[in-house]
Amino acid sequence: MKYKHIAMSSFSGDNSFCPDCGCVLPLPGLGVAVTCPRCHFTLSVQEFAGKMVTSSVVFNTLEASSLIKENEEENELKGPVIDRRCSRCNKEGMVYHTRQMRSADEGQTVFYTCIHCRFQEKEDS
Ligand SMILES: [Zn+2]
Ligand SMILES: [Zn+2]
Repeated sequence: MKYKHIAMSSFSGDNSFCPDCGCVLPLPGLGVAVTCPRCHFTLSVQEFAGKMVTSSVVFNTLEASSLIKENEEENELKGPVIDRRCSRCNKEGMVYHTRQMRSADEGQTVFYTCIHCRFQEKEDS
């Protein structure tokens, strides 16, 4: 009786073990249910959830941050294009934009972004 109580509590938080006999269950794969190879207890994949929900949340966060990065790159290519030669790809045509630094005495920093290879150069004014 005592042994059974310990076994049940350790299985309750982990659905990869059969709740009936404690046998390790196979991975759900593409099926809708997992069947215990020992006692044939069937567990639906939805009940299997835990780990899957956590990993899909992490995936969504990564997707969101890569979207923000794309928008930042687009902003760098907005602005007047000047006849400056890119020191990386050696083609003419760079977008000119300025950014005010945090402290006033540092002045403005001018950024040039190559429209061909997106190489970025900066110059302090
Ligand atoms: Zn079982
Ligand atoms: Zn370039």
